[in-house]
Amino acid sequence: MEYPGFLEEHLTTQVAGDYDVVVVGGGASGAVAAIAAARNGANTLLLERGACLGGTATASLVAQWVAFFLGDTQVVRGIPEELTRRVCGKGGSDGFHRYVMGEAAGTPFPLKVFPFNPEIVKIVLDEAAADAGVDVRFHNFFARPVMEGSRVGGVVTESVDGRRAFRAAAVVDASGDAAVCAAAGVRCDGESMAERHERQPCTLSFRLSNVDVARFRTVPSAERRRLVLGGLERGELYWESISFVSTPSGYDAICLMSRIRGVDALSNAELSRAEVTGRQQVQSIVRFLNREIPGFEKAILAGLAERVGVRETRRIQGDYCLTEDDIMNGTAFEDSIALGAGPMDVHSPGSTGIRLYAPPKPFEIPLRTLLPAGVEGMLASGRNLCTTREANAGTRHMATCMAIGQAVGTLAAIAAASGRTPRAVPVSELQRALARDGALVRRADVERRDAAPAG
Ligand SMILES: Cc1cc2nc3c(=O)[nH]c(=O)nc-3n(C[C@H](O)[C@H](O)[C@H](O)COP(=O)(O)OP(=O)(O)OC[C@H]3O[C@@H](n4cnc5c(N)ncnc54)[C@H](O)[C@@H]3O)c2cc1C
Repeated sequence: MEYPGFLEEHLTTQVAGDYDVVVVGGGASGAVAAIAAARNGANTLLLERGACLGGTATASLVAQWVAFFLGDTQVVRGIPEELTRRVCGKGGSDGFHRYVMGEAAGTPFPLKVFPFNPEIVKIVLDEAAADAGVDVRFHNFFARPVMEGSRVGGVVTESVDGRRAFRAAAVVDASGDAAVCAAAGVRCDGESMAERHERQPCTLSFRLSNVDVARFRTVPSAERRRLVLGGLERGELYWESISFVSTPSGYDAICLMSRIRGVDALSNAELSRAEVTGRQQVQSIVRFLNREIPGFEKAILAGLAERVGVRETRRIQGDYCLTEDDIMNGTAFEDSIALGAGPMDVHSPGSTGIRLYAPPKPFEIPLRTLLPAGVEGMLASGRNLCTTREANAGTRHMATCMAIGQAVGTLAAIAAASGRTPRAVPVSELQRALARDGALVRRADVERRDAAPAG
């Protein structure tokens, strides 16, 4: 594509604040990172381009946290577990449920998940951040990092106030897209032209009201599959799934059934197209559900996600790259700071299918995957950590992102308080702080709990 040229700008930007820790992105990982940093004594600013915390869980209506459990073994505790209790306390969920992923696709995969009402999650996260003393600024778009040589010393944002700079001793990139890392010159994977056109599909989720969920649950899975294949053949459905999350009332269904292929979510034009295509797909899906699926006859479209859900964009290059072999073999890492449970679910870019792999045991996530190569003063958190593409499908679940967030926020606070860079803090210091705060850091923590006598 030919660009018409460049415009040279000379900007004088007002410095609007000095913080210990600035977190960019208030999704699953960023919200928890900010809460952890503030609880560990850091003066913390959380910048979010949208109007709520929760990220994909709330703004994109992906209303179930996966990967707290592997089978019946709990692998994530600490702040994320506390949030599940707070959500239940407000009636936003009735706790963990068993769920079968990929049922209609003929690849059933049982999981223990935490479904929730995303509107309650927004409120819980507001309150948890306020209780911790986090300064949350919505409608704030990260524009560029403030660089001091190879050290990140803050960020510049755009908001209704105009362009503003915020200085920080430590910056956390929890944007999902590694937006801060990429702008700071960190090399990232997932940016080549080939990868940009081979992305896993995006999904625009939607909420239906007036659904008889109990009636739908009585439909045998073979019958569901037959109906779905018919819908696919007629071009009314877009992938092999009737995937929905039900809220505690049992009369709403939050559906993850659209599938928008060939979208590079690092292109504004393509993202814009994806939103429109998503809304077109939703119309067709709702018509199909009303006509064909028991329990959905009287369903009404009650809401569309504020923005399309994006499964993959950039992954940073860090001090270590976690691989699918690490996940499947359960590689032990001295610098493990969180545990993942998977599964690795890779949505095929070019077809309607999904590939699922289950790690046999909880896997360890080393701190080095979160330390962006070549820069200081910055940490990555959540989906954009350093992994292979396949491994990312196992680490991107929200409970894992939240566990990573707790580790990253805690480390950022320790670094800021002691005048060290995050990389200079011995990992044992972080591991001790995380254990004190109830997080599970290494597989041995889980095995010890499993072995402990009940009571
Ligand atoms: C369709 C779909 C279904 C999924 N299903 C599940 C599931 O059932 N369960 C599960 O656990 N996981 C699921 N996932 C994966 C999971 O939702 C994500 O991997 C996870 O949310 C990543 O968390 P994060 O905090 O890294 O990023 P996000 O949740 O994406 O949060 C990133 C935040 O950063 C903000 N941001 C980005 N750029 C900027 C900027 N320039 N300035 C300011 N703010 C910015 C965004 O607005 C957002 O709030 C699914 C994902 C998709 C897309």
